[in-house]
Amino acid sequence: MAAAERTADHYPSFRTQALIDGAFAPAASGRTFDAVNPATGKVLAQVAACDSADVDRAVKAARAAFEDRRWAGLRPVERKRILQRFAELIRAHRDELALTETLNMGKPIADARSIDVRAAADCFAYYGECCDKVYGEVAPTTADTLALVLREPLGVVGCVTPWNFPMIMAAWKVAPALAMGNSVVLKPAEESPLTALHLGELALEAGVPAGVFNVVPGLGVEAGKALGLHMDVDAIAFTGSTEVGRYFLRYSSDSNLKRVFLELGGKTAFVVAHDVADLDEVAQAVAAGIFFNQGEMCTAASRLLVDNRIRDALVDRVAALAPRWMPGDPQDPAARAGAVVSFEHQGRILAAIAEGVASGARLVTGGTAVRQESGGAFVAPTVFDGVSPASALAQKEIFGPVLSVIGFDGLEEAVSIANGTVYGLGAAVWSGDLAAAHQVARRFKAGIVYVNCFDADDITTPFGGVKQSGFGRDKSLHALDKYCDLKTVWTRL
Ligand code: NAD
Repeated sequence: MAAAERTADHYPSFRTQALIDGAFAPAASGRTFDAVNPATGKVLAQVAACDSADVDRAVKAARAAFEDRRWAGLRPVERKRILQRFAELIRAHRDELALTETLNMGKPIADARSIDVRAAADCFAYYGECCDKVYGEVAPTTADTLALVLREPLGVVGCVTPWNFPMIMAAWKVAPALAMGNSVVLKPAEESPLTALHLGELALEAGVPAGVFNVVPGLGVEAGKALGLHMDVDAIAFTGSTEVGRYFLRYSSDSNLKRVFLELGGKTAFVVAHDVADLDEVAQAVAAGIFFNQGEMCTAASRLLVDNRIRDALVDRVAALAPRWMPGDPQDPAARAGAVVSFEHQGRILAAIAEGVASGARLVTGGTAVRQESGGAFVAPTVFDGVSPASALAQKEIFGPVLSVIGFDGLEEAVSIANGTVYGLGAAVWSGDLAAAHQVARRFKAGIVYVNCFDADDITTPFGGVKQSGFGRDKSLHALDKYCDLKTVWTRL
């Protein structure tokens, strides 16, 4: 849609400037970019388009805050109190945060409230609680020496996040980084920068000192690249596509060899054996697995691998559930699905669907844009059957509500197809034989496996992938390891 056709929505004002050193400020260049509501096509706000000058200022502020120990030097219990106050403030601002998330990236308001805001707050509370519970070690050396193994914060951590769960993805990185005493520069996705800026404001209000948590909205090729290449950033925690993840490895090698943690794309296989107890229950799980959040999930159940003996029965059931996931107005509390994040992304999804049709796969349901009268970017829940495991439909991450069904004969073949992509993030197996299911679970090359369930989630469990889905884990106590270094201190006794 041409800029001239857009008009601003009438909603409460959003934070639109960068947060650097405790103050909101425009980009040094004065440039902005549009934050668009993908459900209407209208501009919500003009957001500071930060570039290398702003990123440099943010990194300098973060470095100064780290070196004078205004955060890392606090008593851990004090850092804990501040992070917990931050979590409480997120809960207290639940309605505004949820509405902003929905307006900025199109997800249903009910999900934004009950999932995104809650999980972000819970994440800050969880890692806040860790501040005074992480110990160093005394190594078992000889009696005339004392060898301490200290855990020290890294310094300045750059967090670069995607648009599908803007607040949660930010929280998964920022919370453990802050808990360990680091300073942070967060670069949210250009499609959905608004809640990150609001989080920055709430962090200040909670008592996170100026300069410790900075937010630099901007384009990936400008602000993201500048952060990746910065010589004074100690680590990058990235969630996004495999393609951009590769850039961050290059940025590191072209700059200061900063460590890089990558949570990347996926092509989850949802394997259904012939002996499942309840096909209706399986169908519900598959439909939710692929259509929830408009399919914009790194763990979306995008490949249904089903034993050929029950394939038709299951495909019929999943297709019958698709209308329940038809997108609605994201602000309608009854909507189960909303808009996809942008018109550009809608175009990518529709192109992948067209490629699927051309490949000879059978389009069972969906396949089109819907709600076009709204002016927004919506895609109907889509199911393809008879998909070849080697085809683009089965190999490429579409990141939309598009299910590819692949038949198999026996679990051996299922495992081979499931592992036959470059990705290794999520996988699921459903079977009436729990032992067989667990054997399959062990053979999946994936970081997260579901047995007779899907998308179970808890902050206490590690989340991340293998192969080209990246490395490093978000969530759980294990995530803390990414944000600290071990220092050995020897003393002669
Ligand atoms: P993306 O890779 O396009 O962008 C992610 C971030 O990188 C954004 O902040 C973007 O501005 C920035 N960026 C883009 N190009 C850049 C460049 N050249 N240099 C530096 N920074 C750049 O991803 P997206 O479209 O925002 O998100 C969707 C992707 O995220 C999917 O592939 C999805 O699977 C993945 N994802 C993975 C997980 C996980 O935990 N593994 C979770 C959510 C999303």
